[in-house]
Amino acid sequence: MLASMNPALLLFEKILRTNSLSITNARKKVFLALLGNEPQSMRDIERSINKSINRTSIYRVIELFDKLGLIHKVQIGWKYKIELSDVFVGHHHHISCLGCGKVIAIHEDKSIERLIHELAATHNIQRPVHQLEIQGYCEGCVATL
Ligand SMILES: [Zn+2]
Ligand SMILES: [Zn+2]
Repeated sequence: MLASMNPALLLFEKILRTNSLSITNARKKVFLALLGNEPQSMRDIERSINKSINRTSIYRVIELFDKLGLIHKVQIGWKYKIELSDVFVGHHHHISCLGCGKVIAIHEDKSIERLIHELAATHNIQRPVHQLEIQGYCEGCVATL
């Protein structure tokens, strides 16, 4: 499939244009590195781009994506991994291992979503957004604790 036909990529390009930003090689490469993958560390992103863009440029692109709301930082302990935001991948949560950093995406759970919205309504908060991350140790890591 041609990359230009990918709907997420088309949406990405549209968002950049709407913000009067050009679609540079670096921006496109970082986006593609995040597309369809599990949450990525900065190192993962660098690796998949294969060092064709220097680290400073990658950080600058990530900073821009963050400002535009294109990405979401998944907190794992005091570190984080990056994934595309709900705009591209749909709302979901993660369970991650504090030992090895493995991240598992969990599909939307209607009862959790309902409870969060009810809580917001109880406190008179309109149009609530939220993040929910569950952390612990996977079987492999818990054995070494
Ligand atoms: Zn682990
Ligand atoms: Zn949720």
